[in-house]
Amino acid sequence: MARTFTLEIVTPDRLVLSKTVESVTAVGVAGEFTALPLHVPFLTALTVGSFSYRVAGKPEYVFVSGGFADVTPTKVLILAEAAELPEEIDLDRARKARERAEARLVTERREAVDFARAKAALQRAMARMKLRQGAQLPGSAHIPAR
Ligand code: ATP
Repeated sequence: MARTFTLEIVTPDRLVLSKTVESVTAVGVAGEFTALPLHVPFLTALTVGSFSYRVAGKPEYVFVSGGFADVTPTKVLILAEAAELPEEIDLDRARKARERAEARLVTERREAVDFARAKAALQRAMARMKLRQGAQLPGSAHIPAR
């Protein structure tokens, strides 16, 4: 029986990842799922945050926002608006994005302008920071950014 399958993550700009993996665990809009080799086909939108995949028994993490997962028996294809591996995340940029989003949320509480957009930006920034910071701490690289 097949023990591995291909995980591919694609954004409008680039191929972020193409790897042979043992499993993929992510949170879809209907809840968390784990795709294994020969998984039944399904399609789902993903929540914003990091998800994990296993290579040689070890979990690895990747940040995804605006993503869809197309699961087939031999491949999981993630199409996303943005995706980064932990080492690609610019922590300072994420911190600034969080500060901007927090400032907007404070103002917008009064002015009622695009609250949902600021909240989504805050969610992206916090998930990126969590994944990047987790990857920097020895022995704690495997902290999901959700
Ligand atoms: P920002 O306000 O800093 O642009 P954002 O959450 O609005 O943050 P996105 O729209 O999610 O940014 O992403 C736009 C592009 O920038 C994508 O290619 C994404 O991979 C990249 N990107 C965004 N934030 C970071 C980050 N902190 N580190 C590395 N790449 C990032």
